[in-house]
Amino acid sequence: MRFDILTLFPDFFISPLEQSIIGKAIAKGLIEVHAHNIRDYARGKHRTTDDYPYGGGHGMVMKVEPVTLALEAVKGGGGKVVLTTPQGVPFNHALAEALSKEDRLIIICGRYEGFDERIRGLADLEVSIGDYVLTGGEIPALVIMDAVGRLIPGVLGEPESAVSESYAGGLLEYPQYTRPEEFRGKKVPEVLLSGNHAEIEKWRRAESIKRTYLKRPDLISGEEFTGNDRKIIEELKKSGK
Ligand code: SAM
Repeated sequence: MRFDILTLFPDFFISPLEQSIIGKAIAKGLIEVHAHNIRDYARGKHRTTDDYPYGGGHGMVMKVEPVTLALEAVKGGGGKVVLTTPQGVPFNHALAEALSKEDRLIIICGRYEGFDERIRGLADLEVSIGDYVLTGGEIPALVIMDAVGRLIPGVLGEPESAVSESYAGGLLEYPQYTRPEEFRGKKVPEVLLSGNHAEIEKWRRAESIKRTYLKRPDLISGEEFTGNDRKIIEELKKSGK
């Protein structure tokens, strides 16, 4: 999969993309990332990429022309254009999965107080990574690339990792433990040491349901479950949780 990033700060991406799993995926050629400097497409002696807002107000606004020219130069081979903005659709696992099916994503990073409204018209999709405002779209672009990139086949060492994780099946992941068996009086649950895989699976499923119901009740109502899953929810309700 190929990512093209339109940004005023291409160096922002150097170190994060050299590290760990995404760095290895790039080295293996599973992911390609090209950061393009929007300033290279700005005209005039000073290559200005921002200007004062019409109608007055504080801060500067990103100009439409350099972004349009950058996109035209980069988009030759097609691709889905994603605009980072706190006004976009919330980024979540389902969207990451949908985007991972694309061959190419072009991500536009805003800066300053925002961008000229006509830049919105260049995008296929506006994406927000949360209900807060960051100083620029570079961190959102990294978030999108990381979440989408790890879903590309071959990027994770074990493909099941992405399947059992939080959100993948609509539930949060069960608790995980590693050695030692006991640390400062806190023990690993017996069932995980039992070697009984059926019991371990049952325990993990129950823990996933419990934590999702308690931590993220917006994700499940409980009504969607049947059998043992439903019993877990009923018991939680009875206990007043
Ligand atoms: N004035 C804008 C507003 O109120 O919508 C916010 C501009 S913000 C300071 C500058 C840029 O950072 C945005 O254009 C966008 O590219 C990026 N950005 C900031 N917060 C974001 C978020 N939560 N999700 C995605 N992009 C964000």
